[in-house]
Amino acid sequence: MTYLHKDISGNVIDLEVGKAVCIGRNYMDHINELGNAVPTSPLLFMKPKTAFCDFSSPFPIPQHQGECHNELEIALLLKSKLTNASSNDVLAAIWGVGLGLDLTLRDVQQSLKEKGQPWERAKAFDASCPVSNFVPIEQFSDLQDLHFWLDINGERRQTGHTALMLTNIVEMLCAMSRAFTLLPGDVVLTGTPKGVGPLCAGDSIDASLVDFMTLSTSVIKE
Ligand code: ZN
Repeated sequence: MTYLHKDISGNVIDLEVGKAVCIGRNYMDHINELGNAVPTSPLLFMKPKTAFCDFSSPFPIPQHQGECHNELEIALLLKSKLTNASSNDVLAAIWGVGLGLDLTLRDVQQSLKEKGQPWERAKAFDASCPVSNFVPIEQFSDLQDLHFWLDINGERRQTGHTALMLTNIVEMLCAMSRAFTLLPGDVVLTGTPKGVGPLCAGDSIDASLVDFMTLSTSVIKE
């Protein structure tokens, strides 16, 4: 089914679906769990619009390509264009806030890393970016004080707090907009805390943006 951006009531938002722009290694506990180096400048990558699917409906994961890991992240839906933006401009460009999964074929990514190759095969496959409905930005007083969590089969796998981001949301949007233009309808994924691990077809998933939304879904075969 074609993905469309939706608000918290399930109404379609009038923004054309664009790309996902993502930051890697933005929480220290996740850098440590994978033994990665701390980036000296924000590590950015993208997913194409074919990566989006609805997080609140059962979503597929690729089969026979090694482990496919959960990475629960705060997702930002943009409503205006950002090019070389300054810190004063970026918050006004956000339509709303939701949850995204940066699904990652971890074994594929490891082999790409070892060969010094780009990550798209591990990060940008179809349905690699389930995203929730979005809560309007007006409902948030502090984007750096959001709590979120992910349960797999009833067990807590990830807990996050946006205060722990290495690059905060304002700095992140500025850095992204210096690297490439962000357009209305693009989604920004803001990095994962620790607790990444393999998903299997049949897993049940609960995820929450605490005080704003909770969703329940499951993993199905491709
Ligand atoms: Zn991620």
